[in-house]
This record gives sequence, C-alpha cells and structure tokens, in this order.
Amino acid sequence: MSHFFSSRRTVTTTIPCKHCGTPLVAHRGCREVTLRCEKCRKSYDIKEYIHLMDDALESFLDQAFCDRI
Ligand SMILES: [Zn+2]
Repeated sequence: MSHFFSSRRTVTTTIPCKHCGTPLVAHRGCREVTLRCEKCRKSYDIKEYIHLMDDALESFLDQAFCDRI
C-alpha cells in the first residue's frame, strides 16, 4: 500500500446549474476553481455561485490551493 494522497481535482457539488438545474462539478486548476455544468458544457466563475456554496465545495476549496503555505 502506498501513501497516495492525491487531492481530487473535481468534485460534484449539490449546487444546481442556473440554466438546467444539473449539479455543478467543481474543477480545480492550480490557482482557481471553476464550476462546470456537464449538461450545458459551460464553465462558470465560482463567484457566480459562491453564495450557494455547499459542504462539498467548501471542503474542496479548502484543499484547492496547492501553493498555500
Ligand atoms: Zn446546465
């Protein structure tokens, strides 16, 4: 068994897309997180949905920023 703590790069949230209601998937890059709707095939700035943040997204953001010291 290896100690393989890879932080996941995506997480499915409970935040509904404002166009179709599909739960958005958060994707992280190194310095920013975007929310994507796989149905609409669109990405949204997280600021558009920050007021709807759920636990999944909150803990995802907690570990999202790899350069944080
Ligand atoms: Zn959508």
